[in-house]
Amino acid sequence: MISIKDVKKIFSTKNGKVNAVDNVNLEINEGEIFGVIGYSGAGKSTLIRMLNGLEIPTEGVVSVAGNEVSRIKGASLRKARQEISMIFQHFNLLWSRTVRENIAFPLEIAGVPKKARLERVNELIKLVGLDGREDAYPSQLSGGQKQRVGIARALANNPKVLLCDEATSALDPQTTDSILDLLVDINERLGLTIVLITHEMHVIRKICHRVAVMEGGRIVEIGEVLDVFQKP
Ligand code: ADP
Ligand code: ADP
Repeated sequence: MISIKDVKKIFSTKNGKVNAVDNVNLEINEGEIFGVIGYSGAGKSTLIRMLNGLEIPTEGVVSVAGNEVSRIKGASLRKARQEISMIFQHFNLLWSRTVRENIAFPLEIAGVPKKARLERVNELIKLVGLDGREDAYPSQLSGGQKQRVGIARALANNPKVLLCDEATSALDPQTTDSILDLLVDINERLGLTIVLITHEMHVIRKICHRVAVMEGGRIVEIGEVLDVFQKP
């Protein structure tokens, strides 16, 4: 489903070059929940952003759900992004729009007609458990509810892959668990492939099938979660 081959990302800054991602090779299977863990600055965000074309690798090839995202641009990239959705630590919701309008937004952009849009939004609201909050604005929601809106919006166009960039890092432990349960539910029910990055071991242990540990732009360890992090 996802293939990362000989990928490097070098940023040029006024203090010189930074090898944010340094010779990474990685294959992620369809239906897998794959975690990337590492300290701040390890290169996790840069790696996940290359999966949906938010960053272009300096070298190497990235393919996701049949799209060579390291090469395509413009309209083809926008089309590919309907299959490769993302959720964020700070939710990135539209603050002047209601829950319903936030979730409908990607459907509008995709040109889905109004009636089909309303039906799809209702389906998504049920799926993420936001019944009764349809007309609320983001400022009226708890952190967990905001992330549920983010998840519903990400799923609107039936993506094949969901990328999660520190998606629970702004949430308290109990809310984190409920969002992780929702992600597992979505993975099992829809067969969606999930790639998540985190600095929290708990997140990896709770839901990931496999994990890669990143350090200094490199993958220093990879495998089944129980093998990489043996329980004491
Ligand atoms: P992580 O997500 O693991 O915290 P990042 O991918 O954000 O790591 O960063 C990896 C390295 O690349 C860091 O040294 C960071 O400062 C650097 N970096 C990330 N984005 C940029 C950028 N746009 N310009 C310059 N350096 C960057
Ligand atoms: P953070 O402030 O830590 O980025 P938020 O969840 O508050 O996290 O914000 C998410 C995004 O929404 C940010 O890009 C922010 O600039 C934007 N944003 C926050 N508040 C408002 C607002 N009242 N009106 C418009 N945009 C907002």
